[in-house]
Amino acid sequence: MTITIHRGINQIGGCITEIASAKGSKILIDLGHNLPEGENRDNDPLEKAENIDPILKRVDAIFYTHSHGDHVGFESYVASKNIPQYIGKLSKKLLLLQRGNILYYHPTPELRASKKAIESFITYEATKPVEVGDIVVTPYYVSHSSPDAYMFVVECDGHTVLHTGDFRDHGYRGKGLEPTIQKYIDPRHIDVLITEGTMLNRDDGRMISEEQLCKQATKLMQKYKYVFFMCTTQDADRISSINHATDTVRGRRMLVDGYQYKVLEAFEEELGQGKFFRYQYNRKHYFRKDWNYVLDKDCKRGFTMLVRNNRNIKKSLDEMMPLLDKEQCCLVYSQFKGYLDPNHSAFMQSAYDFIHTYNWHFEYLHTSGHASRETLEMVCKKVNPQLAIIPIHREAQSDFRELNLSEELKNKVITKSTSIEDVTIVVK
Ligand SMILES: [Zn+2]
Repeated sequence: MTITIHRGINQIGGCITEIASAKGSKILIDLGHNLPEGENRDNDPLEKAENIDPILKRVDAIFYTHSHGDHVGFESYVASKNIPQYIGKLSKKLLLLQRGNILYYHPTPELRASKKAIESFITYEATKPVEVGDIVVTPYYVSHSSPDAYMFVVECDGHTVLHTGDFRDHGYRGKGLEPTIQKYIDPRHIDVLITEGTMLNRDDGRMISEEQLCKQATKLMQKYKYVFFMCTTQDADRISSINHATDTVRGRRMLVDGYQYKVLEAFEEELGQGKFFRYQYNRKHYFRKDWNYVLDKDCKRGFTMLVRNNRNIKKSLDEMMPLLDKEQCCLVYSQFKGYLDPNHSAFMQSAYDFIHTYNWHFEYLHTSGHASRETLEMVCKKVNPQLAIIPIHREAQSDFRELNLSEELKNKVITKSTSIEDVTIVVK
């Protein structure tokens, strides 16, 4: 078996992992864009055929861990090569909604091709193995800021690899991480663990759970009549916290636009059945643009509004804000802090400007979609891989050996090309 880390050993986002059997079966795990540096969409070298073609050569299938743009991004090019692409059912729906929404405003041939490619994605299910030649891939659900994320157990040439994808244990379904490892991963005796390490070097302060975040959001609902939440549209956990906090004020609604409404319906359909009442958004309310009507009739008791930095939302805010008492308005920023920090490489001027356009109170309330150091330690220890730990999706200067692990495990951390027994690891 050969494991090739095409990208990700020293970068967050844009990770590409290849696993190939001795007989020549070959899969890729994730193939997305490099994360943009601030506003500039990073000029991804893979946009050029001469760079992506060697990676796609003789690939039998691509498995996406989830739908974030740094994990899925070259779908139409892949489809043009007739390579099957696999993803979770809700992730497929979310990608179609997202591409469809942009297509509506910017109908381009590239977007149409992208949508068509996503329509052809094959969906996998948790715990159900998928065979590709002599490689077997089994997905297991993980909690992440994308609501339909998976880790993969890959069996190849008598060896077993666990690729975690992006994950955490402090989301609403994050408590399932340890039991999932115990039940499904432990008995398989993992040889190689490929794990994300996003938070190794990011000092995001104390990592609170979604439950704690929800409690703090509830306090803000009591304090302010009008709360504007700036968060990722497709983060089912975060919006669940916001909906739940909104629900504590009688008669208060959570205003969303048409696109967000459809996304929430998709969450409800796929996640909100049975016991998962958290993913029923009972306060969602599709807002009309007649603001006097909204304020007098729909939202006498105030509202929570999900906002994004885009033209339509800004237009709505421009019309509405003059009608509101500024003292009662609060913007809650619920995304990565770096986007607002002029000294950070991820700084986004337009997000910064958006927040400072309106004269509202500002609060920061966020928790990461990625595993804390403690969680990474737990996973390394529980999985206890026999041969190697390959950290990906991490900053170049981060070091897994700084984690609280036994010397034996620390010695298994691999960041350069090597061979162990009959496993070849190639780090590009
Ligand atoms: Zn992600």
